[in-house]
Amino acid sequence: MSEKSLTLKEYQRQYYLKNKEKYLTRAKKQRERLKVEKKKKENKKELEIIEQQERPTFLRPLLVRCFRCKNWFLIKYVPWKKRFSLKNNWDWWTKKEEEKGKKICDACLKDLYLNHKVEYRQNIWDGERRVVLRNYVT
Ligand SMILES: [Zn+2]
Repeated sequence: MSEKSLTLKEYQRQYYLKNKEKYLTRAKKQRERLKVEKKKKENKKELEIIEQQERPTFLRPLLVRCFRCKNWFLIKYVPWKKRFSLKNNWDWWTKKEEEKGKKICDACLKDLYLNHKVEYRQNIWDGERRVVLRNYVT
């Protein structure tokens, strides 16, 4: 090995050692940033719920649980109608008194229409409601 290449190698080593701290700090920062971003994403839904709950009472959406998938979700208040959105009330779709109080999330409505045709036809028998759901899903 020539003296020159040795010097170059040595120089590179020295350079690395000198800047090691800086590189590691940068990598660490990057890793932490990614971690925070991931957490942010995970917490977004939770944050949204908290934010919504902090709004004035009359605008505050209802936090309810879907009877189908058991997930919590929010039912938005519709100010110009002065009431909560009806589409998440299961009995609004089925028009069955015994279903009153049951809530269904948007994802389940979509899933019901797209992937569970039998269940959909059995429960949502009203033609008008079917049109509404079809328009809503597609
Ligand atoms: Zn659901």
